[in-house]
Amino acid sequence: MLADRVFAHARPSDASHVAAIVGAGGGLVLTGANPVRAARRCREEQAFEGPILFDSAAAEARVATRERPFDEGGDGLLEITLEQRVQGQIDAGADAALTPTGYLRAADFGALDAAVEGAVGLARDDVILSLPLDAGWLAPGLIDKLIGVLARAPVAKAVMPGGRAAAPRRMLDGVLGLRRLVTEVPDVALFRTDLTGLDAVAQGCLAASIGTSDALRRLVPPGETAGYGSADGGDRSPGVLVPDLLTYVRGSVLADRFGDRAAPPCRCARCGGRSIAGFLRQEDWKDARLHGVAVWTEWARNLLYPDSPEGRRRYWRRLCRDAIAAHARYNTSVRAREPVFVPPESLWVWAGEDTATATAGVVTPARP
Ligand SMILES: [Zn+2]
Repeated sequence: MLADRVFAHARPSDASHVAAIVGAGGGLVLTGANPVRAARRCREEQAFEGPILFDSAAAEARVATRERPFDEGGDGLLEITLEQRVQGQIDAGADAALTPTGYLRAADFGALDAAVEGAVGLARDDVILSLPLDAGWLAPGLIDKLIGVLARAPVAKAVMPGGRAAAPRRMLDGVLGLRRLVTEVPDVALFRTDLTGLDAVAQGCLAASIGTSDALRRLVPPGETAGYGSADGGDRSPGVLVPDLLTYVRGSVLADRFGDRAAPPCRCARCGGRSIAGFLRQEDWKDARLHGVAVWTEWARNLLYPDSPEGRRRYWRRLCRDAIAAHARYNTSVRAREPVFVPPESLWVWAGEDTATATAGVVTPARP
């Protein structure tokens, strides 16, 4: 059911539109208010045939502990068991159940073991163990132990990356660590992420889900604020997936860089030639989300089309290399004195040669 699929991780309010874009080859992971009703509408009104999952996003609100790895979801009066939580999702129409795992702080092996034991103990084949992992887990000293624990867990797993790796070196650790996780751990999917999900699937990971908005592309640890719209002077523009660049750029940043010059039109199934620099206001958020889904859905289809693992990796590598080249082209087109479009670290890794294990080092294209 999961295998070879790229899901859209979306709010229930977007579900119908997103379902229409991803089609039966994709799937939906719904998180937010009223997901069951939204799922039913997708089935009944859109005749959507792809799988639908519900993500309770327990990790946004609570940290997992050894004693309580899962959100019991009670209102304080009633304890609900893990078995009841997962059965509830199946009864509500989910094709598989995601465990309501709390946020797993780096190096908290007690909580990690408890979560694994809880999910394995259910002995059901329709349960996926959610693993909302802090970025700290991907550091060189921890990643091997993490892989060791997860590789022994006989249950389907969905890793959801959380927190932020601020320093450039840690950013690279994060990219390489995620690649190792999804290639060295069997039966693992990468959920609630950005285009890293496509890289994961290209490397042979079970499945991925890509968030439709910034908030659904990376988990913010409980107690921390996303900083969106405050630290940056109240910028309300959405993150926009720029097809040529294979990366998300804030709408206001795009508008600023292009200024009076014409920005490239978007030819995705949603935009009909709309300028890529035209997503600025709150009214544009939904358009930006659906544009993003339309763009990566096409990549996901092309990526999954070849049967051979090598064919898939080759397609993805070429897409990433073209995107690196496009950054230079964009800099020329805006006549920037200094490069303003700079490929993110992840793009260099994705465009690099295949490596059996990332520990052996990644060969990336020669940088300018
Ligand atoms: Zn578009």
